[in-house]
Formats: sequence, C-alpha cells, structure tokens
Amino acid sequence: MIEVVDYHKTYRDTVAVAGLSFRVEPGQILGLVGPNGAGKTTTMRAISGIIPPTRGRLSVAGYDVAVDPVAAKQRFAYIPDDPRLFDALTVGEHLTFIASAYQVEDAPAKSARLLEQFELTEKQDALAQELSRGMRQKVAICCGYLHDPVAILFDEPLTGLDPRGIRTLKQSIKDRAQAGAAIMISSHLLSLVEDLCTHLLILEKGRSRYFGPVSEARSAFAELSAEASLEEIFFHVTEGGAPALHRQSEP
Ligand code: ATP
Repeated sequence: MIEVVDYHKTYRDTVAVAGLSFRVEPGQILGLVGPNGAGKTTTMRAISGIIPPTRGRLSVAGYDVAVDPVAAKQRFAYIPDDPRLFDALTVGEHLTFIASAYQVEDAPAKSARLLEQFELTEKQDALAQELSRGMRQKVAICCGYLHDPVAILFDEPLTGLDPRGIRTLKQSIKDRAQAGAAIMISSHLLSLVEDLCTHLLILEKGRSRYFGPVSEARSAFAELSAEASLEEIFFHVTEGGAPALHRQSEP
C-alpha cells in the first residue's frame, strides 16, 4: 500500500504541493494526472524518498519513507521518465547489480525471464550507452520489477516504447496489480489512464481536485454525461471550476 497524509512541499517561495492525502491499496492502479507544474513529479519523488516533504507523512507498505527509508525502498520501485543507467555496465550487469543490492532470490532465472519479456535478451551484453531510448526504458523497467516490489511508481512509462513494448508493459502492470502490487502511474496520456487505472487523482496547483475510483468520476460530477471521457472530466475539473472531490475507497 502507498499512503500519503497531508503532504506539503515548498521550494523556496513555490508551493509545489499543498496538503495532499490519498491511498493506493494493493491491487489498485492509480492514475496521477494534472497540468504541467501540478506537482505530480514532486509527489512521486517524495514517495520514493528522493526529496523530503516539507510536511506530512508518506509511507510504503506501512514504512514511513523518512523514518524507515531502507525498509520502504526494499518494497517499492520508482521508474522515472528519464531512466539513469550506468553507461559502463551492460544490460545483464545492471540486473546482476540490482539483484545483489536487493538480495533477490533466484536472480539469474528471474532476470532471464524479464529480459525475454521485454525483448532484451539479445542486448544483454550491450553497454547501456549503446542502447536506444526505448531499450533504456525497458532496462529500467526490468530493474524495477526484479525484486517484485509491492508498490510501483511510474512517471510517463510509455516514453520511447514501441507498440509491442507498450503492450507488454501494460499487460505487466495489470498482472502485477492482480498479484497484489499497489501501482501509481503519472501520465499526460489520458487514454493510458483510462485503459489501465482503477483510480484517479487529478492534481492542480499542488492540490487534489478529484480522488477516487475512475468508474465514479463521471457520476461525481452531475453536470457531465454518463459517457463523458476522461479528457472531458479532466478539463471539467481543471478548467471548469468543479468543486474538489475526495472519495477514499474501502480496502
Ligand atoms: P509536468 O507535467 O510538467 O512534469 P509536474 O506536475 O510533474 O509537471 P512538478 O515537477 O512536480 O510538476 O512541479 C511542481 C511545481 O514545483 C512547479 O511549479 C515547479 O516549477 C516547482 N518545482 C519543481 N521542482 C523544483 C525545484 N527543484 N526547485 C524549485 N521549484 C521546483
């Protein structure tokens, strides 16, 4: 489970996030959407322990990221939109390194399965600096999946992936949620969110404008038709002056 309680982040005089609270339960896939500068990356980075919150509590699987960072980090994976790889390591060496850092059992077989799944087997001896943009993204995904995290955070996960890679990634996200992982996806691709996500968090200027099941987003705004697309909901909430709504679903 991912839990965020009263999260605030201020950079000097910029209030990036102001009082954000939400939960992602095991099996749920939360789509985090919002205009540029809404605070999405600032939220993902704080859950990942990369930046400290100004105020509030962020936890993964019950471990406070600030108090128990190692326990929290053992249980989640953060896959940013600009994966940082080690240019001097091969694809295979990345997985070996991550497996050793996370003490992954049965690592060679797991690594081989992931490389096969993401069509990287032929590239396992290639250096990271020799990979294409999409291949680098796939290596980051394999590294993220290797220790079977119970929480997975993706920032614009489709960047650079080819159609087959997109299909593989989407299926893997559904499979991992089905197996009990709590997943967050930050994306501007509303079709991706509509396709994959069970829950939706619309952020605007650092505040939640809608949080709840995707299926309830239409009925939550009586002004919208029952067939409203996620794009219509997005513009209604961010530009139409709709009131903020928070619908915490039951575990
Ligand atoms: P985008 O869709 O453009 O990626 P975002 O929702 O991820 O946007 P954030 O990157 O979280 O937005 O930024 C939220 C706010 O915080 C913005 O006003 C941004 O300028 C500010 N901000 C982000 N990082 C820093 C930083 N390191 N120093 C100062 N301000 C920052």
